[in-house]
Amino acid sequence: MNEMRSAHLPFGDWCYFPRKSLNIVKLAHNPNASWKPVHISIALTSRCEKNCDFCYADSGKDGETLWKLENVVKMVESCDKNGVFAVTLGGGEPTLWNDPTAKADFYDLLNELSSFGCDLSFTTSAVPTVDWARIPHTVIPRISLHHHRELGFIKNEINKAAECRGTIPAVNLLVRKGEIPDLLIAAEKLVKAGVTDFLLLPLRPMGRASGLVSTFIPTEDELHQLVKFFPAPNVKLSSCYRLKNQKDTFLGCGAADWFVSIDEKLCIKSCSFIKTGRVLSHFEYREILEALPFLKRLKCHSKNPE
Ligand code: SF4
Repeated sequence: MNEMRSAHLPFGDWCYFPRKSLNIVKLAHNPNASWKPVHISIALTSRCEKNCDFCYADSGKDGETLWKLENVVKMVESCDKNGVFAVTLGGGEPTLWNDPTAKADFYDLLNELSSFGCDLSFTTSAVPTVDWARIPHTVIPRISLHHHRELGFIKNEINKAAECRGTIPAVNLLVRKGEIPDLLIAAEKLVKAGVTDFLLLPLRPMGRASGLVSTFIPTEDELHQLVKFFPAPNVKLSSCYRLKNQKDTFLGCGAADWFVSIDEKLCIKSCSFIKTGRVLSHFEYREILEALPFLKRLKCHSKNPE
């Protein structure tokens, strides 16, 4: 189940070790190789009780889904058979997903998916609650900290997860303008609570956050400060961002080459921040490959950024 996976891609061979999220890339020009997405994000639902005013996905209490249990299972199975490295479930709030016709909730779905060999993770705000005891051990949970004021609540969830599973969830930190010192203090407390896997997500002017640009979008200098003083090694910054002086990977962020997002309306998109794409109908990986040339991309997807 945990064997190394690899993909023969135009930039070289990419090897990935599931459950360790370890990447090894052997750079070499592969003229005969073509792109294939190896990381897939699936938004299970746009339902979410938090209804945040900065939600890029426009999720809320009236959100819905078109995903049925059998369709998610078929899609992830097909991805797995085609060598996909990792599948992430999100939303909306993925723990609110259910399929009444199959009498299945989110945790039943995780059980069905956990036998596949690719990494399976999900991102939750832990609202209204997470049933940590029902999450299979092979599944990787990520909790989002949207504001440093939520630290107490998030630490409580981390403790519950540790008690039930014996492992500490990864944490996604939302980054806003003017809050870097508070975020660094919160990060330090999370490190003390045992968190080692952090992803920094600077707020983006998408969805309901579109009008918040000048108030909430962090500056490049702030992101530099945050990365420089972050209290944990190997902190990841959302691949939408390239900092000044950061060595370029020539890959762009990879969206639509090695990553695609499928939303709650079954629409395949180059990334979660794009509104349009191609609708999935057979729940097969080949539909992703067929859609690739037609997907609209953002500027940050470019392999030759200005
Ligand atoms: S940002 Fe996350 S928690 Fe907030 S409404 Fe959107 S999906 Fe829900």
